[in-house]
Amino acid sequence: GVLQRHQHNPTRLLQILIDAQDLTGWLPAPTLTHIAAALGIPRARVEGVAGFYSFLYTRPVGRYRVLFSDNITDRMLGNDGLLDALCRKLWVEPGKLSEDGLVSVTTTSCTGLCDQGPAILVNGLAIGQLNHRRINEIAELIRQQRPLDLWPAEYFRVDDNIRRKDALLELQMPPGDALRAAIARGRDGWLDEVRASRLRGRVGAGFATAVKWESARNAPGADKVIVCNADEGEPGTFKDRVLLNSYADLVFEGMSLAAWAIGAQTGFLYLRGEYRYLRPQLEAALARRREAGLLGSAILGTPGFDFDIQIHLGAGAYVCGEESALIESLEGKRGTPRIRPPFPVVKGYLGRPTAVNNVETHAKTCLIALYGGEAFADTGTAQSTGTKLLSISGDCAAPGIYEYPFGVPITRILEDCGASDTQAVQVGGAAGICLANYEFHRHIAYEDVPTAGAFMVFDGTRDLFDVARAFVHFFAHESCGFCTPCRVGTSLLKGFMDKLADGHGARADLNDIEWLDRLLKNASHCGLGSAAPNPVIDTLQKFRPAYERRLVSLDFEPAFDLDDALAEARQLTARDDPGAHLKTHEEDAQ
Ligand code: SF4
Repeated sequence: GVLQRHQHNPTRLLQILIDAQDLTGWLPAPTLTHIAAALGIPRARVEGVAGFYSFLYTRPVGRYRVLFSDNITDRMLGNDGLLDALCRKLWVEPGKLSEDGLVSVTTTSCTGLCDQGPAILVNGLAIGQLNHRRINEIAELIRQQRPLDLWPAEYFRVDDNIRRKDALLELQMPPGDALRAAIARGRDGWLDEVRASRLRGRVGAGFATAVKWESARNAPGADKVIVCNADEGEPGTFKDRVLLNSYADLVFEGMSLAAWAIGAQTGFLYLRGEYRYLRPQLEAALARRREAGLLGSAILGTPGFDFDIQIHLGAGAYVCGEESALIESLEGKRGTPRIRPPFPVVKGYLGRPTAVNNVETHAKTCLIALYGGEAFADTGTAQSTGTKLLSISGDCAAPGIYEYPFGVPITRILEDCGASDTQAVQVGGAAGICLANYEFHRHIAYEDVPTAGAFMVFDGTRDLFDVARAFVHFFAHESCGFCTPCRVGTSLLKGFMDKLADGHGARADLNDIEWLDRLLKNASHCGLGSAAPNPVIDTLQKFRPAYERRLVSLDFEPAFDLDDALAEARQLTARDDPGAHLKTHEEDAQ
């Protein structure tokens, strides 16, 4: 059934594996063999894909799969204590399968619920606002083997937490209005309007949307593709969750607007696996739009405007947020970033010209279609027009979604979200920038502090070394392993940070961290590797005492404790006299 549903199409491999896993809970070897034979592709390719995505399991997992969100903000809210408590109650070790096969409990990267953490995913369904009482109740429900649809409905309530609205979040548009306005302008007129708006992609790099669309439109090839990147995996970001939950029509309409400009017929919404619970309502929104003539053939009665959208589910790979990795994933492969050029606008999905924009960018184009490019550019700054959604979490009274015109100062944001005694703000997620309090006069804008949307607040009680270490662990976990500098470099960096945390750090380690930073920046194949040292380098410059108080006063200190490792040998030989120990440095000095 699964293979038939996907027409035995190898480009649907990731979706086939996800659906097959839904039937059996995990992907045993015979299932992989069967899929490979049915699709006529090498088994190694199927196994390679199954092994790449962290939400695909090639070993047995529990009938209840509990994944604790492990962003720094979850840690600040005590997720580790809750994980231990759940494991104790269920008699299961973290990361292992319980003996009866009932449950497995482990951690995952940020689940996009930082405004209502600590959070977990149970078989893909999100539960936020955890506390010990709720953990006890969940343990009981699992012990009773209660089906998830009989768990209390309020567990699964995910709030939007919209705290400040501006142009986009205030917009109440009947579906189709923006599309009608763009069609009335003609394809050229509509692209001119986007150019006049000076809209830039709502990710940190901020590439001009009109330039991207024009390149895709002019690229040779009739069968063009629009992709909405809803794979927001940057720790601390959750604005796409809210847009997809409550503004899905704006997002889909924005995709159709892009299709009108470019002349595309095929659209994909790449939905991150962590937001899988949103899929049914998104499919329903697409069905409504088809019924209303907003998708399909001759959209709104316009001859030659044929476009439809399908949802493609991700499976827990942060690197797929990179557009060429995302396209590989759409083609049913491992999410390995491509060598560029050629750029996706020329050669993207299956070699066809492909324009990839994120959720917020697509939604913003509705404003341009309705009110015109110049009106859009009236808001914000000269280089950063319009508004920006921020996902605010961490040490503040009112975490949630805030929409501001570009150019808003950090101080204003901190005031609005009820932050006090703020020591630092991490803007743009793990790959972003860590601002110390002497930088809070700076502004959110591409020309000053660019961000895809994450804004994590840390007050004076937080240790910025721990924050940086959490991000380094994240990058080491998420490195796709394709290129050696990143695969080895992120793991070495993690090793240095763990060494410092364990009290074995020396000044030489700080020098080595700076050397690794240069190596990762210069030799990594994609942005993940080059951004991986950012949190350490930033905090090392701005919060150096957090590192220095962990150093022992040596030029070099091994992370490995050789004397400790010889303990077993001493026990076997029944010797524990001073001669059976290594000399200490102090003894050497004497
Ligand atoms: Fe993969 Fe890292 Fe290399 Fe990017 S830099 S391709 S994530 S190994």
